[in-house]
Amino acid sequence: LSPVPSDIDIASAQIPKFIKTLAEELGLAPNEYDLYGQYKAKVNLSVLERLKSRKDGKYIVITGITPTPLGEGKSTTTMGIAQALGAHLGKPTFACVRQPSQGPTFGIKGGAAGGGYSQVIPMDEFNLHLTGDIHAVVAANNLLAAAIDARMFHEKTQSDRALFNRLCPAKNGVRSFAPVMFKRLQKLGINKTNPDDLTSEEVQNFVRLDIDPDTITWQRVIDTSDRFLRKITIGQNPTEKDQTRVTGFDIAVASECMAVLALSTSLADMRERLGRMVVASSFDKGEGIKSITADDLGVGGALTVLMKDAIKPNLMQTLEGTPVFVHAGPFANIAHGNSSILADKIALKLVGIDEGEDREESGYVVTEAGFGADIGMEKFFNIKCRISGLIPDAVVLVATVRALKMHGGGPDVVPGKPLPEVYLKENLEMLEKGCENLIKHIQNAKMFGLPVIVAINHFITDSPAETELICKKAIEAGAEYAVPSSHWEFGGKGALELAKSIVKVTNSSTESTKEKFKFLYDLNKSIEEKIEVIAKEMYGADGIQLNDKAKEKIQRYTDQGFAKLPICMAKTHLSLSHDPTLKAVPKGFTVPIRDIRASVGAGFLYPLLGEMQTMPGLPTRPCFYDVDLDTETGRVYGLF
Ligand code: ADP
Repeated sequence: LSPVPSDIDIASAQIPKFIKTLAEELGLAPNEYDLYGQYKAKVNLSVLERLKSRKDGKYIVITGITPTPLGEGKSTTTMGIAQALGAHLGKPTFACVRQPSQGPTFGIKGGAAGGGYSQVIPMDEFNLHLTGDIHAVVAANNLLAAAIDARMFHEKTQSDRALFNRLCPAKNGVRSFAPVMFKRLQKLGINKTNPDDLTSEEVQNFVRLDIDPDTITWQRVIDTSDRFLRKITIGQNPTEKDQTRVTGFDIAVASECMAVLALSTSLADMRERLGRMVVASSFDKGEGIKSITADDLGVGGALTVLMKDAIKPNLMQTLEGTPVFVHAGPFANIAHGNSSILADKIALKLVGIDEGEDREESGYVVTEAGFGADIGMEKFFNIKCRISGLIPDAVVLVATVRALKMHGGGPDVVPGKPLPEVYLKENLEMLEKGCENLIKHIQNAKMFGLPVIVAINHFITDSPAETELICKKAIEAGAEYAVPSSHWEFGGKGALELAKSIVKVTNSSTESTKEKFKFLYDLNKSIEEKIEVIAKEMYGADGIQLNDKAKEKIQRYTDQGFAKLPICMAKTHLSLSHDPTLKAVPKGFTVPIRDIRASVGAGFLYPLLGEMQTMPGLPTRPCFYDVDLDTETGRVYGLF
């Protein structure tokens, strides 16, 4: 339709096919998926075992230029490509995207299901509870938080023996260790299976975690943008006997449990990662400080039970009925901002080819990496692909004329005010300047050795000369293709040329093309060297400057054996540098590292390059003002 209606009007005008039908089209057996209503299903991990001999389909990562408040349309383009490949070119294709946090949906951002005629549906279910995975993350995260404070309380108020008697109670006169306790015993080097055989010194070491409250890094989480929970005092009731402590809440998707969900490769792997999560350090009793894990608190097993269904990817569909996995939504700054490894793995098998089939018949998985290529794509390769072992076939880099103009010096946009004229009228000079940003991201993608296709997400105000200019600049910078695409306006049909270029690039690529893929750094480099490589190569910085706290953390993590983890930079997404006001390609800057934190369970260290807000607030006029239910029809409106 012209003009294109609102995202939710388009989404609700389309009647989705029953998800059971889609599951059958994908060749899933009835016992391989669980229905959640009529339009969503969870796919069981057993599919991976059944299809293990099948060759994976082709793997495409969707990323973008440095984001601006104008929006680049990565999700919209992901859906457009999936629709074009799947519904128009007859190639089995999965789109894999993150599940959005409910907080920003009601706050400032609105929905995240794509837009125009390229979306995931049902859009309201996508943006709200989905199948409860975020709720499972909240439950697991907060059980662990409760376990920390309760344990400190009990250790403070009881003798070693009383603690021991309660931790290992006698049943019918016989004491035993709970299975999870063997992990702690092993850590302490105690090789005994009968609690009664422990010496008093061993009892003391076993029962006392001696958590130093000042070192607790684990916060509570909630999936609401609630700024008043950023800093709170807990334990104020007299029953907690003055054990008050200042702590805070993060938004649910900032939980390490979410990053673990996204990076787990199996249930067993998730169990190990959840148990390994470090929440605090012990007081130094002369033997150095020790890190305290979820398994030390005895809660790793329970966390896994709470998340056992969340680990199954959620099957949904695009507006044109092609399959989508919506799974996991880790933050893109303090975490790696990519959807789950398992969703990608299952999707690659479902669109893959059996022995003897031609590679050209293989289908596609298009997976989106959050923020710009300097963040989402870099972490996709160096963290996600390193853990999954998957090697992508190509990178699609999304750019828009208007965002590049902003990088070329265009004015800021003010919410609620009309867009400045420059974004609506041809301005080749400003665009050419802004193309520097695109060129740097093409060079960045090329550093990993993969072919690059630039997708110009077409806005109706773009002029042909502007599109042509971007294409010319992209090809000169080494992109294999640069293609304008009108999927927002026309759905899959509008992305046909873009999809065809993906087919061409991936069909001409061979196994040796994949061999060209390389990580940006070796894990054996020191923490400092790894950070420096990312800052210099990806951001174009002159170097890094570590403050004292960061230096001290590097020493501590190296001593604790965490130095071989990959790096997850917590940086602003609005600039290639650490300064959000610097557009295009900043030069002559040094990246300050003010602290480094560890997500040991998820499996990365995250240096902080600036203040990272992990709990959004609500603006004066939040998006929820527009959201309501048509109580006659049950239809949700106002979600974008
Ligand atoms: P990103 O994934 O980069 O954050 P999205 O794909 O979620 O961006 O798009 C953000 C918003 O911009 C959506 O509301 C979408 O409808 C809108 N949008 C995307 N592409 C276009 C386009 N070509 N024309 C008009 N609006 C668009």
